[in-house]
Amino acid sequence: MSRFFSDKYAALTPYVPGEQPKNQQYIKLNTNEFPFAPPQAVVDGAKTEAGKLQLYSDPECTQFIEKAAQVWGVKKTQILATNGSDEILNFAFMAFCDKNHPIAFPDISYGFYSVFAELNGVPYEKIPLKADFSVDYRDYIGIGKNIVIANPNAPTGLALSRAQVEEIVKSNPDNAVIIDEAYVDFGGESCVPLVEKYDNLLITQTFSKSRGLAGARLGLGIACEGLIADLNTIKYSTNPYNVNRMTMAAGYAALCENEYYKTKCAEICKTREDTSNALKEMGFEVLDSKTNFLFAQTDKISGKALYEKLKENGILIRHFNGGRIDNFNRITIGTKEQMDVFLKKTAEILKEKE
Ligand code: PMP
Repeated sequence: MSRFFSDKYAALTPYVPGEQPKNQQYIKLNTNEFPFAPPQAVVDGAKTEAGKLQLYSDPECTQFIEKAAQVWGVKKTQILATNGSDEILNFAFMAFCDKNHPIAFPDISYGFYSVFAELNGVPYEKIPLKADFSVDYRDYIGIGKNIVIANPNAPTGLALSRAQVEEIVKSNPDNAVIIDEAYVDFGGESCVPLVEKYDNLLITQTFSKSRGLAGARLGLGIACEGLIADLNTIKYSTNPYNVNRMTMAAGYAALCENEYYKTKCAEICKTREDTSNALKEMGFEVLDSKTNFLFAQTDKISGKALYEKLKENGILIRHFNGGRIDNFNRITIGTKEQMDVFLKKTAEILKEKE
């Protein structure tokens, strides 16, 4: 730390992203990326814009937002596009939370929530998941704080129903409720239809998972016009050109290819179920995932040892050190071929341990 670093950030512990190895080829099942390359139309869209990079991007993201409004069935003024959904989450913490407006979220969830709270000087309460790792929606009823919940949750993969989320939103009318739907396209129930009814609900989604654009950085928020106007105030006070030209064109093309992504997501869900069944047969406990990853443990090998052994064998999965989830690993669903290699290696590692 230099002597210039502001006191307000001195105690900040930054988010630690999953490993992005540069020197070795791995089967990468550690950061919940989409396992298929973008369709040609998406690549072409980005390429066309690459030739215009001397010009700023459209700060209003006009064409992209028009298309997104069509796809999600909301008004253009109810959407904000951002540089990944991490950016809209941070905007939401900046816009709606402060010393007098604390926030609550599950104790086991996306690691960035506590980082954004600390970054923005927001007091936060971590509400323990139930023993089975599910969110008890009743814990949030009338809590009188802002709320952020990943639904489906990460790294557990478990989901709340729309009706349960609605109870939370309805019972906290004077607080902002942020539902992070990063993984919703893999079997969750989206709460976008609720934004018409509730002025305190913000839904965030990402193009990083079900639309395979993690490297382009594109996310969005959907809410009533008032919340989106507030988030725009934050955007125009930090980075008006937050979505670059190539990303916006790629995102637009991806929305035009919606059917392709739906088919691929269905394929990923099928591979997820097959992988889950195979792991269970090997003696793993596997949570009921509604995402593109599995959360699994076994008493035959520790979570850390399995992670390390698989890494030695060229396969990366995600292990979170410490606490109640120390024995678990989060395994991204790759292609069928990648999962076959993962299952084969895992079986071999378990056999060695016998
Ligand atoms: N929410 C959750 C629950 C996530 O797991 C992630 C991915 N790390 C994000 C949001 C952010 O994704 P991105 O910034 O790539 O849109």
